[in-house]
Amino acid sequence: MTTIFHKIIQREIPADIVFEDDHIIAFRDIAPQAPVHVLFVPKQDFATLNDVPADAPEIVGRLAIAAARYAKERGFAEDGYRIVMNCNAHGGQTVFQIHLHLLAGAQLGRFGTPAA
Ligand code: 5GP
Repeated sequence: MTTIFHKIIQREIPADIVFEDDHIIAFRDIAPQAPVHVLFVPKQDFATLNDVPADAPEIVGRLAIAAARYAKERGFAEDGYRIVMNCNAHGGQTVFQIHLHLLAGAQLGRFGTPAA
């Protein structure tokens, strides 16, 4: 399935790209939920975390390691940050190409409570 994130990878629509290599791309979220809000997206096609094969943990691992590296390079790793991957309806997923949210730059509130 083609998503808005595939179009960003293909440069069909613009994004504020902060990192890219052969496997992943990272760009700023269009509607930031924290002072720093970057999305880390694999270039391989997986709609949700449920679709990542058990024998391919590197797909997800690369996203987390890239997020941590970004945090260290930008100087907020010690203060801290949050990484989140939403899955399907109850998780609040809206774009069906897996992606890791990196949120940072302020004290973040609690999360995980049911939506009002
Ligand atoms: P999800 O809700 O699927 O976990 O996260 C999708 C995220 O993608 C949302 O935080 C949303 O703001 C972001 N987003 C949606 N469309 C675009 C877009 O066209 N460009 C960028 N940079 N982010 C987008």
